[in-house]
Amino acid sequence: MTVSRPIDAADALRITDRITQIRTTIPDSVRLIAVTKQVSIAAMRSAYAAGIRDFGESKVQEAATKQLALQDLTDITWHLIGHLQTNKAIKAVEQFDWIQSVDSLKLAQRLDALAEAQAKRPSVCLQVKILPDPNKYGFAIEELLKNLEFLDRCTHLHIAGLMVIPPYGLAPDQTRSAFEQARELAEKVRRQAGANLHLEELSMGMSDDYLLAIQAGATMVRLGRILFGDRQ
Ligand SMILES: *Cc1c(COP(=O)(O)O)cnc(C)c1O
Repeated sequence: MTVSRPIDAADALRITDRITQIRTTIPDSVRLIAVTKQVSIAAMRSAYAAGIRDFGESKVQEAATKQLALQDLTDITWHLIGHLQTNKAIKAVEQFDWIQSVDSLKLAQRLDALAEAQAKRPSVCLQVKILPDPNKYGFAIEELLKNLEFLDRCTHLHIAGLMVIPPYGLAPDQTRSAFEQARELAEKVRRQAGANLHLEELSMGMSDDYLLAIQAGATMVRLGRILFGDRQ
């Protein structure tokens, strides 16, 4: 892994400038999560210096390395955004403030039990596949609706919202429509569900589509490449 690679002053400035510029395109009410998978510690420090306090990582182990290296920055909120294997769930509850990638009832129930044991109440998003996508994890819409009653009983989780990743390669109109369906789904669940399913957060929008996502009601955007450049 390249996380300890140093960056020069010009790179650091570029990251700071990009973040400042992108921030001007995002309303203050929308939370900007900097996605730092494969991004170096030095680049993360530049992002922090530019005001970023929310960091998103895909892998529990990579995040652990970074959390150790950045432990002097005590006000970071860490978001897990990648698929979580059940055997790493205990670490995820220990290490992350948010788990955005809760993609099955089984995982939700496992996290709920671990959160109770650790006397924690992590915030989570339910990852939903608005369109069928064999390459992605997540609840199908029907599956989510069928499981609401069981999810509502996971009271050691603060079930805060939905996380959505549209399938790769959609046209902008289709992407917009997928984001709008996600917002409608969250509203529908809010009307139907019990006390624990708040779903006021909509985590949607990445480098190529975050403006569409914001127009459709995103409350969190997860940006990687547009802030840090292309990953290897
Ligand atoms: C990598 C990743 C992102 C960021 O994607 P970019 O295209 O680099 O902005 C956002 N969300 C998830 C779940 C990711 O895995």
